Amino acid sequence: MDYLPLFLRIENRRAVVIGGGPVAARKAELLLKCGARVVLIAPQLQRSARELLAAWPGRLEHQEAAFAAAHLEGAALAIAACDVPAVNAQVAREAEAHGIPVNVVDDPARSSFIFPAIVDRSPVIVAIGSQGAAPVLARRLRGLIEALLPARLGELARFAGERRQLVQQQLAPRARRPFWERLFSGPLARQVLAGETEGVREGFARALAGARAQAPAPGEVYLIGAGPGDPDLLTLRALQLLQQADVVLYDRLVDPAVLERARRDAERVFVGKAPEGCHTPQELINELLIDYARRGLKVARLKGGDPFIFGRGGEELQALARAGIACTVVPGITAGLAAAAAAGLPLTHRELSQSVTFVTGHAIGEDALDWPALARPRQTIVFYMSVSRLADIVIRLRAAGAPAQRPAALIERASLAGQRILRSTLAELPALAAAAQVSAPALLVIGEVVALARAEGELAPLACLLQGVA
Ligand code: SAH
Repeated sequence: MDYLPLFLRIENRRAVVIGGGPVAARKAELLLKCGARVVLIAPQLQRSARELLAAWPGRLEHQEAAFAAAHLEGAALAIAACDVPAVNAQVAREAEAHGIPVNVVDDPARSSFIFPAIVDRSPVIVAIGSQGAAPVLARRLRGLIEALLPARLGELARFAGERRQLVQQQLAPRARRPFWERLFSGPLARQVLAGETEGVREGFARALAGARAQAPAPGEVYLIGAGPGDPDLLTLRALQLLQQADVVLYDRLVDPAVLERARRDAERVFVGKAPEGCHTPQELINELLIDYARRGLKVARLKGGDPFIFGRGGEELQALARAGIACTVVPGITAGLAAAAAAGLPLTHRELSQSVTFVTGHAIGEDALDWPALARPRQTIVFYMSVSRLADIVIRLRAAGAPAQRPAALIERASLAGQRILRSTLAELPALAAAAQVSAPALLVIGEVVALARAEGELAPLACLLQGVA
């Protein structure tokens, strides 16, 4: 380690930036955000620096001059950011002679300190450096860490900071750390990270009282939308919670690649359709969730797509609420959205479609659907669970007035290996689907917008399009 990482307090200290261009302005802005009184030394300012000057009256000063040693008088630090190397070298020499820390932009050899790449979730700050060896690598790492850290991490840190003294007063020293550990990985922290304020104060008071009484940590459930299959389509929050869960309950719609992202040592429990074809009953799944949580475990319930779209997520949430178990719901990209993206098919369109409806094909026979409404033009209908009922759906829509030529598509295994897009018309789609042996999971999309679906490789304007591994 050739550099010592530090967080330097420069509030109300004088910081000198030599240069009048955009780089100097950027550095000056960072110093201003940290509370410094900044002096820009340059014969002329370029536009970004002039704008900065106007935005920070009183705190940012411009000295219209070429650099001279006297400018460093009383400075806590200096930054050389002008485009004349000889001036930068002079700044470095003078600063060194005065014992003032100096950074020469893009010149670590002349700098006594260098700037890290920063992830700012104030008061939490992550600084990443490569000792000047590979700044681009450091910036890439910053991107990764940005993605990993919840956006409201700073709020959580402030929330804890405001209560630190209280915890110190009420808990014995050795109980404090486990208390905070539990809090930061528990439902209360999750609420703060989700921006929910209701009941948070009371929740904290309860947690503190529980810690005083040495009550064991309660378990909780994360109802996570796992998206359509491609793990890159998981949300950041889904990933964060998957990394915390002790147990993961999943079903057949959850791709193995998604399950891979769970903690290595987490127990994995399959609650989907068994090979002989029977489903794990919903009541049993609810009971399992409750049992695991009552054992004090963090339970991730992974559901394909979004938990609240044809996923029975609502029933699980209700069962957990009845059992008094905390549950966090994480939305996922529902298959309809993933399929539309895969096919380049806009679900709404200013001229062609003013609404989109998600429908289940499951209840076709029970006349639960309003067929005349579904047959109307200028809208998009997305049928889930419909492959085996395709012919029936087409008959009913046509009987309700939908024209034979209305564009319709089947999107099979959206976002997964073997994805196929079959584009046609209402009248022709069932025969094409049968010939191509389309199987679940697949979605049926109907509407004028389907004519816009991805069509590269198309042979004739209305020919079907078969993509991927047929
Ligand atoms: N909660 C899920 C839907 C569950 S119902 C969601 O929000 O996506 C199951 C149906 O979803 C399947 O029958 C199929 O119609 C659709 N489906 C799920 N994953 C799919 C995928 N990768 N490609 C196409 N359709 C999919």
